[in-house]
This record gives sequence, C-alpha cells and structure tokens, in this order.
Amino acid sequence: MSANSVYLAYLVAAVLFILTLKGLSSPISSRRGNMFGMVGMAIAVLTTLSLTHNVVYILLAIAVGGTIGAIIARRIEMTAMPELVAAMHSLVGLAAVLVAMAAFNNPVAYGIALPGEALHSSNRIELFIGTFVGAITFTGSIIAFGKLSGKLSGKPLRFAGQHWLNLLLGIVMLGFGIAFFMSPSWTPFLIMTAIALVLGVLLIMPIGGADMPVVVSMLNSYSGWAAAGIGFTLNNNMLIIAGSLVGSSGAILSYIMCKAMNRAFFNVILGGFGGEAAADATGDGVQKTYRSGSADDAAFLMSNADSVIIVPGYGLAVARAQHAINEMSNALTDKGVKVRYAIHPVAGRMPGHMNVLLAEAEVPYEQVVEMEEINNEFADTDVVLVIGANDVVNPAAKNDKSSPIYGMPILDVYKARTVLVVKRSMATGYAGLDNDLFYMDKTMMVFGDAKKVVEDIIKAID
Ligand code: NDP
Repeated sequence: MSANSVYLAYLVAAVLFILTLKGLSSPISSRRGNMFGMVGMAIAVLTTLSLTHNVVYILLAIAVGGTIGAIIARRIEMTAMPELVAAMHSLVGLAAVLVAMAAFNNPVAYGIALPGEALHSSNRIELFIGTFVGAITFTGSIIAFGKLSGKLSGKPLRFAGQHWLNLLLGIVMLGFGIAFFMSPSWTPFLIMTAIALVLGVLLIMPIGGADMPVVVSMLNSYSGWAAAGIGFTLNNNMLIIAGSLVGSSGAILSYIMCKAMNRAFFNVILGGFGGEAAADATGDGVQKTYRSGSADDAAFLMSNADSVIIVPGYGLAVARAQHAINEMSNALTDKGVKVRYAIHPVAGRMPGHMNVLLAEAEVPYEQVVEMEEINNEFADTDVVLVIGANDVVNPAAKNDKSSPIYGMPILDVYKARTVLVVKRSMATGYAGLDNDLFYMDKTMMVFGDAKKVVEDIIKAID
C-alpha cells in the first residue's frame, strides 16, 4: 500500500472509532456503535498487516490469541465481565513494557535510531513514559482482577505512611527515568520498570469496597495511554489515535463514575475511600429484627398497588432473572399497575450493567429511569421491589457519617410506602456493609434466588 492510502485507511478507521464511542453512549445506538468499531478495527489491522514483512508470524499469533479470546468470550458470564476486563488491561500494560524493551534492545530495527547513533531524545521520553504507564497498568490490573474475582481479599490493604511511600517511589522512578534520558542503558531502564511494577500493586491494594468501579474505568484509561505509548515507540499513528481515544474516554468515564459516587477522583486513585467498608461487614453486633414474607405476599402487594418501582442489582444478574422480571412487570402492567425500573449508575459489576441486562430482556426503554430522575418519586410510590440490590439502596450513605459509603448517592428506596427485598439471605453486598433498609418496619424480605422468587410471583399474579 502507498503511504497515502495507509494514511487514508487509518483516517477512516479513526473516524469509525469516534462513531463507535458516540454509538455506545446510548443503548438504542450501541449495536450500531459496536458495528462501527468492528469495521474500524478490521481496517486498522489489515492496513497494519500490509505494512509488515513477517505476516506469517503475525497471522499465527492472531490465530492463537483470537482462538483463546473467542473461547473466553463465549464462556464468560456477564457478572464476571469486570474481572475479564481487568485481566485484558493487564495484557495491554505488559505488551507496552515488552514492546518498549524490544525497541530499546534493537532501536535500529524499530526505526527509532540510525545504525551507530544514539536514541533520539524524544524516543527516550516515549520509551520511559510507555514503560512506566504500562508497568503500573500491568500489576495494578492484576491486583484489580484478583480483588474483583475474589481470589484476593476485597479488603483494602493500608499501612501508615503509604502515600509518602508511593510519593517517594514515584520520585525515585522519575529519577531513574531522567538517568535513562541522560544516558540510555539497561540499568536505569530496568530499575525504573521494577519500581513502576511495585507502584501498580501499591496503588490498587488500598482501594476497596464500593470504589472498585472507578478503579476498573481508571485502569481502562491507563491501558489506553499505554497503547498510545506503544504507538509512539512503533511510530504507528493508528495506535496513537486508538490508544488516546481509549485513554481519554476511560478518563471521562472515571470522572463520571466519581461524580456519580460523590467521590473525589484523586482520593480514589490514592486509596482514600472505601477503606473501612469490609471491616464493618458484621455491623454493630446488635441483633436487629426483620420481617420476611413469601412470593405470594409480594405478588399480592404489587398487584394491589398503583405504582411499583423495581430496583435491580447484582443479584438479578447472578440469577439471570432479567427475562422473568420483564414477564412479571408485563403481568403487573396488564393489571393496570404503573411499573418502572430505577437504575443506579454502579448497580451490578460494570458500568451500564443493569441497562444491558434489561435491554437483553427487551424491557421497554421508557420504563427504565436513571437515579436522578426517579429519586423524587419514591415517596409517592406504593411498592418498591429491590431485587438482588444492596449497596445502591443502603440509607447509611445518607444518614451515617461514619459509614465508608457516606456521601455516595443512593436510590431513595427507604422513602417508599412499602419495600420488598428479594435476596437469598441477610448477607452484605459488595461493600461488605449491613443495610438498615432491611430492618425497617415497612420492609418485607423475600428470601430465595431472584429468578425462582420472580417466577413464583408471576404464578401468584396470574
Ligand atoms: P451488591 O453487591 O451490593 O448486592 C448484591 C446482593 O445480591 C447481595 O447482597 C446478595 O445477597 C444478592 N444476591 C446475590 N446473588 C443472588 C441471587 N442469585 N438471587 C438473589 N439475590 C442475590 O449489589 P448492588 O448492585 O446493589 O451494588 C453494586 C456494588 O458493586 C456496589 O458496591 C458497587 O460499588 C460495586 N461494584 C460495581 C461495579 C460497577 O461498575 N457497576 C464494579 C465493581 C464493583 P445474598 O447473598 O443474600 O443473596
């Protein structure tokens, strides 16, 4: 391909990536957005392939990687998406480090130095930035994967002077980066990389409880910048553009998540919140009483209500109860009940998780209402059905200053006239906190697997 055709193909792919992001901003256009992304990626990959000499090796690697990816994608449960995403981010980080090492090992082959000449100063900076961002992304994402998958404790790991240690390590890492810049050699490069690997662990270990969604989107952003870094090393404009798009959209998403959770961005990154969440799991030790009822009771209450708001959470996804809940809301609507779904921005285990599930079950979009819009309406609602949700309806976020989730916006379910909560036990949610909503006089617990309970409710409504 001529140089001009390559630039043109990359430009088309870049425009398609931008259209992808635009499409993904709404559930209605997200399918189209994904389509743009696939076509853009195909153009980008084929164009890059046309530039290389070792096509056989690359095709072999694509075949192996693609097969593994396809198998994992087919098997993965929706609820395990965040940990898969974290694992993928770690690979992007590792790739950035390895490419930087390979380029530094043989700069002539990578076209970043002429034979017998030293590395250009701008290339030294690129190698330094690409490597440390990649290394932090690599180990940080592994820790995030461990926490999200339950292989590592979700408890935040804290110790005195942690922030100072991080700062010190950051400064030492920068020092070795400058040493590398002044005189490129393996010693400062490897020490700098090792410090960045440790920093990745130290930055993510203290983050716990309800702040993990921000970490996932933050690592997403880092992985984008790491990819952009590789783009500079490889002199590949497409990778720079795609990496920057991922980096900046991830940063914007992190900002939106922080705003939704009422958190200060830097406090989350530095491990300032969510700390005591897991430690508080058992509550204050006082035996509290709660009411429980059956699926029949729940059906009776909802059938006789004027309005019902359904609050889905992580448990709905685990039980795969989205089709059943749609069937139940249709049965209630047929009886003249006004049914809506209230969506909290971090319900479930990934941004937009509940929107995706409800769209899959073909719940009409007009029934699905975001938190800010629906929060004023709980006080005038007869029955709220909380199904597999916990943290996102915990009133401690509003009225308990000592709670680790204090300040996080919640769905104001506690204001409704009657509250039904479907879950399997009195166990805590992701943040590990007891929930006073479950002990209110107006609340009735309906114990059981979400899908089974909803199916029983449907039978009782008919
Ligand atoms: P929670 O994790 O707070 O609570 C889910 C509840 O579902 C549990 O209390 C559990 O109780 C119940 N449950 C589990 N399985 C079933 C089942 N089969 N049937 C019925 N109930 C079930 O979920 P929320 O959606 O309320 O809140 C999300 C939490 O996850 C927040 O803390 C958020 O910060 C965090 N998070 C969110 C991410 C995101 O991007 N959205 C990413 C990472 C973390 P029981 O065991 O008794 O059944």
